[in-house]
Amino acid sequence: MEKVQRISVIDLLKSKDYGKTVCVKGWVRTKRGNKNVIFIAVNDGSTLKNIQVVADVVKFDENLLKQITTGTSVCICGVLVESQGGGQAVEIHAETVKIYGTADETYPLQKKGHSMEFLREIAHLRPRTNTFGAIFRIRHNMAFAIHKYFHERGFFYFHTPIITASDCEGAGQMFQVTTLDLKNIKKTSDGDVDFSEDFYGKPASLTVSGQLEGELAATALGLIYTFGPTFRAENSNTPRHLSEFWMIEPEMAFYEIDDNMQLAEDFIKYCIRWALDNCTDDIKFLCDMFDKELIDRLNFVLANDFVRLKYSEGIKILEDAIANGHKFEFPVYWGTDLAAEHERFLVEQHFKRPVILTDYPKEIKSFYMKQNDDGKTVRAMDVLFPKIGEIIGGSQREEDFEKLKKRAVEMDIPDKDIWWYMDTRRYGTVPHSGFGLGFERLILFVTGMTNIRDVIPFPRTPKNIEF
Ligand code: ATP
Ligand code: MN
Repeated sequence: MEKVQRISVIDLLKSKDYGKTVCVKGWVRTKRGNKNVIFIAVNDGSTLKNIQVVADVVKFDENLLKQITTGTSVCICGVLVESQGGGQAVEIHAETVKIYGTADETYPLQKKGHSMEFLREIAHLRPRTNTFGAIFRIRHNMAFAIHKYFHERGFFYFHTPIITASDCEGAGQMFQVTTLDLKNIKKTSDGDVDFSEDFYGKPASLTVSGQLEGELAATALGLIYTFGPTFRAENSNTPRHLSEFWMIEPEMAFYEIDDNMQLAEDFIKYCIRWALDNCTDDIKFLCDMFDKELIDRLNFVLANDFVRLKYSEGIKILEDAIANGHKFEFPVYWGTDLAAEHERFLVEQHFKRPVILTDYPKEIKSFYMKQNDDGKTVRAMDVLFPKIGEIIGGSQREEDFEKLKKRAVEMDIPDKDIWWYMDTRRYGTVPHSGFGLGFERLILFVTGMTNIRDVIPFPRTPKNIEF
């Protein structure tokens, strides 16, 4: 037989070239049959669906057929025919079968229906399951949609550093980066670690946000976004926190808080719409398997305006709920940071749709947020989602040099760390705004998964760095 070019399963299933010789390469999902004919389902990752291969037993070496088990990698060529059985449009009647690699009975993905916990322990193989194939195809599509959205609206993709010497978001949750010999640390005369010997000559860490550098770009290029890995050494063992995650951070010159909210809502709806339109099979599969309300929930978010609510009003609603007998684990009072249970109450029980909460107490927010005239609150905005809680955190930035400086001093942020950031306010300052979307939180929402460890290929959480 002449050399036949490989076709992906996704293209094969769309093909109507009946009678043509085709060639598929992939991994065997199932094999069944009888003494005359066997049916092999092959998946190559291009789509959720398998292509069915029909092999007449007489045409092949008995030993070869015996070696084909779940997990075996194969190259199969044969004639494309319209399928007789239901379920699929086409199948391949095999003429040649080549095995690249067998998979013996120790292959962990023999049976269906493994728990998500077990699959996390074999994260190196779980992309071969239907569930994780679907999740990672959706993840790709979301990344693509994000770049497309911003590119088409004149935003520039700007790369901010991963290694940084500034910790302006709040101390104590950064991963230190060092080349010092930990077994032999030199101290200065006052007993501190001598960082002059370290790689950068001073302490350095992995970034917790690209925002500060993003602002430098926005005050030059106008509209920018970053999309990169972010690291937080916070010891939060929750289903919504990773120590390494991806964040999208647009930053916009001349945007005020209302423009910022408008963009956040439009952007997130665009991503959800993209998933529904372009990941239809995968989302339907996850909906059927895990979360029957998934598609309805996605459509519901698209169809409804997000509520805009001030923090103070949100606190009142929560206090009223408590007065009416609702129990929360954490206390509610003006000035406290809201816990996920509070956020989800507002979204799921009170308003029953996404909420953008604004104007938080300045004490619980970062130094760079624009101060309101009341002297108590800042122009922060958090977008709160059903099932997730906070999915976006953002703000209008303080553009006034003196006000920003005063806040930095109050919060003990040394000028030597932020002099370069302050220069944006020193020279040609403008009103501007931005936000950060946690990529995995978006994927959680779009896939209906309930644990953030299941929407990133190789999750990093406290005490967990295998693979
Ligand atoms: P949370 O209160 O949920 O811990 P945060 O207020 O610390 O979040 P921000 O600093 O506002 O988070 O970061 C912006 C966005 O990044 C958040 O809205 C969230 O979507 C995402 N995010 C923050 N921390 C994590 C994390 N540890 N793992 C995954 N995503 C995160
Ligand atoms: Mn936040």
